[in-house]
Amino acid sequence: MFAKAITRGDSVHARMFADIDVGERPLVLIWEVTQACGLACRHCRADAKPNRHPDELTTAEGKRLLDDATAFGDGQLVVLSGGDPLAREDLLELVAYGDDNGLRMTITPSGTASLTPERVRALDDAGIARMAVSLDGASESTHDAFRGERSFADTVAAAEAARDAGVPIQINTTVCADTVSELPAIRDRVRDLGAVLWSVFFLVRVGRGGILSPVGPARAESVMEWLHEVDAEERFGVKTTEAPFYRRVGLQREDVGQGGSRRRAGITAGRGFAFVSHTGEVYPSGFLPESAGNVPEESIVDVYRDAELFRSLRDPDDFAGKCGACEYRHVCGGSRSRAYAETGDPTGSDPLCPYVPDGYDGPLPDRLREAGVGAD
Ligand code: SF4
Repeated sequence: MFAKAITRGDSVHARMFADIDVGERPLVLIWEVTQACGLACRHCRADAKPNRHPDELTTAEGKRLLDDATAFGDGQLVVLSGGDPLAREDLLELVAYGDDNGLRMTITPSGTASLTPERVRALDDAGIARMAVSLDGASESTHDAFRGERSFADTVAAAEAARDAGVPIQINTTVCADTVSELPAIRDRVRDLGAVLWSVFFLVRVGRGGILSPVGPARAESVMEWLHEVDAEERFGVKTTEAPFYRRVGLQREDVGQGGSRRRAGITAGRGFAFVSHTGEVYPSGFLPESAGNVPEESIVDVYRDAELFRSLRDPDDFAGKCGACEYRHVCGGSRSRAYAETGDPTGSDPLCPYVPDGYDGPLPDRLREAGVGAD
């Protein structure tokens, strides 16, 4: 196995993550700085618009949010997302403000002509710690069919500019019926671009994502198996988004007992993860748009630690359905966002995971029953 690439701040951050109490602070705090975006991606969670919303958090309100975020503790990771964060003219000011105040500032810009090498270098100068760009196809034709004309060329150029500037790159990929066959070729792109992390998002049908078809439970499981092989073979790391049963699959591959699994617990909506919308609504994740509070009226710290919704999402012992009965609930817990999107209950079963705990005879989500899970 290769030693994974270590990038600026990553080793410190990884050590810090191992010690974080997710009841006290999120590992990842996402701020959707705007919903404005020049693209109109087929699957957009935010249902992004061409223009900025008049009620977006102002520069002063955004700085107050960043001030509050410092109260979570040293090196809090903040992801500036959108829409396209480049649509805000105060973006560099916000990055520099967060960086100056000890936050680890990262960004997920859209792959457009605005993402020039000059902009990338300016973000680097402002203190960005990592840049994530999206590749949903391995070629111009497949990626642009998903994200819009010229997006592939602009995305690759921006990733190369970031690599040349020494800014660590993360590649984000959406897995759905339209993209799943592209994954092996995208893997090659991730390697060729010198990315440090491949973040593989299993579609949750929120926003415009509702028009796409997800992969089925059996295909998701086989993709997870393959991703573990990729993770072992490549220098870059692999993580999944909205698919925490990647960890269950990994533990089953290693035959690791549950004593070890608690130490390896990952993050899910509201449990190590929080999302602030463009207008300041605080959600457990961008794919679980149920507001638990609002900034700047409330502190993000108070909402994360004390809001009932967040607290309930951090208590897998109280989850409903098979996730609540599952021996992997503390290390996995299922996608709370997908449970919410497909069952209306954020504490229900993840409808993508085909695993049925031994002895469980309770109800299964419709998607699993339709796929024949639990039929025997
Ligand atoms: S049943 Fe739920 S908790 Fe168990 S592995 Fe599947 S998604 Fe995770």
